[in-house]
Parts: sequence; structure tokens; C-alpha cells
Amino acid sequence: METRINFKLKNTIEVKLKTFDELKKHFENKNKFTLIKGEEITNVVDQKPFHVTALNIEKLILPKVIPPEVNVNPSYVIQKNIDDIAQQGIDFNKPTLAVLNHPNMQWSISSDIISEIKKLKHIEIYNGYPDSLSQGDIYHHPVTHLWDIENTLRLSSLNKNLLYGVATDDSHNYYQFDTTKANPGKGWIMVNSLSNSVNELINNINLGNYYSSTGVEISNILVEEDSLKITIKEKPGVTYLTLFIGSIEKTPPHHLTKKKSIRIKKSFEISSVLEISKSNPASYTFSNKDLFVRAKVITINTMKNDLSLFKNESAWTQPVINNNFKSGF
Ligand SMILES: [Zn+2]
Repeated sequence: METRINFKLKNTIEVKLKTFDELKKHFENKNKFTLIKGEEITNVVDQKPFHVTALNIEKLILPKVIPPEVNVNPSYVIQKNIDDIAQQGIDFNKPTLAVLNHPNMQWSISSDIISEIKKLKHIEIYNGYPDSLSQGDIYHHPVTHLWDIENTLRLSSLNKNLLYGVATDDSHNYYQFDTTKANPGKGWIMVNSLSNSVNELINNINLGNYYSSTGVEISNILVEEDSLKITIKEKPGVTYLTLFIGSIEKTPPHHLTKKKSIRIKKSFEISSVLEISKSNPASYTFSNKDLFVRAKVITINTMKNDLSLFKNESAWTQPVINNNFKSGF
């Protein structure tokens, strides 16, 4: 950013922002630091925010602003953004990325809206902007629960691929640092990629080759036929817990059996904590009732990243489909 004083205009301070290309030239460092061009598309439907991150795009994507008197399902607007982002990938022959941002901001996004979006691949499960309310409140689920509901629906009835979870700082405030500010470094993703070329990073994110973090580092995620194993990159003096969380099929009530001609819908316990491990590596063996399993690693005796909205540092892996899942119905 450049500033100057305009003496002809009552000493007004004038500001000139740097362009993406100027910043890229200044900051980019091969194999160390990569800048990716992007935009937060800020749609408004019925006075509520529906924001979508567009990464590795070339041209501005205009938001949709739908006035209250027009009845439009927000999922249509979000899908339109996702289509616009994908179209730029085709037009410019490069991978692009779309993420549905802060679903709990103004409680704008319900699980119904999420499941009505046709081609959603990534959703923010942690956002460092305090008003994003990722953790929910007494009336609303945390975003991780919306994420689990969607994956349960996708695997049990929608026949869609997994939805991946992103952590981000959504930084807006760079001078004053505290829990009420959207500061850089509150949340991020770690991508498993051989290089930091933009295309390789975006391709790996789109394949779900990443985990989300507010401070905990994971050195290995091993998915095998019947188990999920997490190796934590420990920091001295810090104690970690690994929670294996998933959706498990509920056992049908005894009197409802296949023999009776009653159409029974499958039901699941969503966001169930299946096992808690203090070990490193932490390992979980799938039960044939687990639809999917994901791991959340938390610190229990430190809050080094004290800018986090939660009382500990966390890391969230992507969910893993249990191929041995056996429906009881
Ligand atoms: Zn936003």
C-alpha cells in the first residue's frame, strides 16, 4: 500500500493499493512462498451473507445480490458461484478451487442448504473471524457437525463424494492482536504436495490431500483397509488427545425386523466420539457400523495459539470412508 498527502484537497491522505502482480513480485519465493490469486464472492440473499472463496481464478466473479422480495434458494446462488469458478478453470486451462465460507455467520447456512448444493467439495469448518461462530451456540450446531451431517447424507443416500473441511484465519486485522480480532495465523490448511506450484497445490486440495489446523501439526495420516492412524508432530511439554469421530449406524429397535413389511429409514448417530487416544501415533480400527471416521487432535494443557477462538489448538483430518461398513438393514 502506498500513501500520499494531497495538499490541494485539504491535506487528504490518498491510498493506492498494490496490485496482485506487484505483491507477487515482492513476496513470492520459489519453493518457499506462493501467492495464489483469489476472491471472496460475497453474495447476499434475503439480507444474509453467502460467501464463496474462489482460488486460482483470472477474472473477477461478480456476486449475486438477491433482494428480499425475490424468492431464491441460497443453494442455487452458491452453485452458480461454483460453476463460475469451474468455468474459469476450463477457460484458462488450470485447476481452480471453490470453498463455502463460514456457514454459521448470521446462521445463514443450514444442513438443508448444504445438501442442496450440487457440486460442493470444500466447506470451512473453522474460521478465525469471531463473527463466523464456527463453534455454534446453544441453539446452533458447530460447523463440524453440519459437515458430519452432510457426509452422512452423501454416503448413505445422496451418492456423492466426501465433503472436505477447511480451516482459515479470514484475516482482516493486522495491527491489533486479540481474540476479538480476525488476525492472521488463527487457522490454516496443510497440503500434502510434492511442490508448491500453484497447480499442484490446488489439485491436491481438490483431492482432499490436506488437513486443517489451528496449531497442531500432524506428520502422517495412514489410511488402511480397516484402520486410521495419526502421527502427531509433538511440541515439547504439550499433551495431545486424538478423538476419532464419525457417524455410526444405529441398531434398529428389536421389533422392527426385515421380516415385517415396514419401510425403515436408516438412521445414524452423527459426530459420535468413537474413541479417544492419548498415544502417538493414535490408531483407530473401524467397526462395521462406522460409515466414516475422521480424527481431531487437540492440545489439553496449552493454548499457544492463544488467538484461537477455541480453548485449545486443534487439527482436523478429512473423513475416511469405511469400506467395511455393513448396513444392518
Ligand atoms: Zn466472508
